[in-house]
Amino acid sequence: MDTPAGPPPSNLFYQSRARRPVLDRAEGVYLWDRDGKRYLDGSSGAMVSNIGHSNPRVLAAMREQMDKATFGYRLHFENEPAEKLASLVASLMPKGLDRVFFVSGGSEAVESALKLARQWAVASGQASRWKVISRYPSYHGSTLGALAVTGMALMTAPFSPMLREMPRIPAPTCYLDRDELTPDERGLRYAEMLRTEILRQGPETVLGFIMEPVGGASTGALVAPDPYYARIREICDEFGILLIYDEVMSGAGRTGRFLAAEHWGIRPDIVVVSKGFAAGYSPLGALIADRRLVEPVLDAGGFIHGYTYAGNPLACAAGLAVVEETLERDLMGNATRIGALLKTELRGLMARYPFVGDVRGKGLLLAFELVSDRETMEPLPVAYDAYVRLVEQAYERGLIIYSRRTRGGRAGDHFLVCPPLIADRDHVAEIMEKLTASLDALAGELGL
Ligand code: PLP
Repeated sequence: MDTPAGPPPSNLFYQSRARRPVLDRAEGVYLWDRDGKRYLDGSSGAMVSNIGHSNPRVLAAMREQMDKATFGYRLHFENEPAEKLASLVASLMPKGLDRVFFVSGGSEAVESALKLARQWAVASGQASRWKVISRYPSYHGSTLGALAVTGMALMTAPFSPMLREMPRIPAPTCYLDRDELTPDERGLRYAEMLRTEILRQGPETVLGFIMEPVGGASTGALVAPDPYYARIREICDEFGILLIYDEVMSGAGRTGRFLAAEHWGIRPDIVVVSKGFAAGYSPLGALIADRRLVEPVLDAGGFIHGYTYAGNPLACAAGLAVVEETLERDLMGNATRIGALLKTELRGLMARYPFVGDVRGKGLLLAFELVSDRETMEPLPVAYDAYVRLVEQAYERGLIIYSRRTRGGRAGDHFLVCPPLIADRDHVAEIMEKLTASLDALAGELGL
């Protein structure tokens, strides 16, 4: 890729100074740059473009709304798309989890969840509760409040003096453990770490526990053994602690259900969604809370929190059309079917490349991890920069994948392969062909 001298004009991206090609147009699962090169969007951007690009129904809904009104301040007006979207979302949730608060992105949604939780504690006479336990590694957003619960040294380190850091427990990275336990026993062992931490902190000080039910960028689509989920819920209930599910990445159908929580029948107290919720057509996110939490806050004078653009009619019109499209075209069913096929194909890479150490995920939230030794799961040497090099190899071949090296945690170089939920078998074949060629090139480059 060309790397002209000087910083990119509009992109202070932390991973590299490389100038990216200029986007020209996008349709379905493909994007084209200004030179006419085509890219298969194998990561839906940052796991955003769930229904693919340039969807006619969404564009029409947005145009229609634009002709009516693009903005009406939420303290002055309700608006129809927001009302319809809130009702639709509530109808997809377990009973009682039906209070919806719109925001413009994932970090805002997490901030809102933390602040609602705290205001609920104050309003319900539990002001001693303020700590929100999270996991390491984890990613919950870039704003300071979200960073306070994020477990990713790369993202938090420079800001630590500015943060009131919260307690963390290890994420259930069972695939890295070498012990005599069964996977279920391992899952339960990780869940018990929450109980131990709550007791260590003093239960009366603990407000909540926040987790990504299927991990995203921080862990590379980490899924815990099944018993983990119910045990975490039980532990939260034992101490009256709020369970907050961060489904910014896993929600809105990406794992084959509207919420990943549904796979385990878990009812969180608060859940946040964004990314695929408006699928890149507009900045949009939502906090969905149990009415039991919201009522005391309203009784005490209302949620002391808000964003100017929250719930604006244009964003909500986009979100409404995206969710309707997802449901009516059974894109969650497609995510399950195509996700199973893609996962099998990715698993096939393990037979071909000894340095592919693990393949994991659910639906179309899938990842693979590179290692130097599959037995010990020793990561590749940091100096190899595999998480950058493989992405570049794929990019050259017209395939976009998403990578991270979670430094400071135990996870190594992992790569998310998460095409839009409209992907079909031919797209899977194209992804695998380009990925295999890229892995061959990486193996040659690094002598693997
Ligand atoms: N939470 C999770 C699980 C995420 O994956 C992300 C973004 O990657 C965020 C929160 C932050 O969302 P945003 O970048 O829209 O602020």
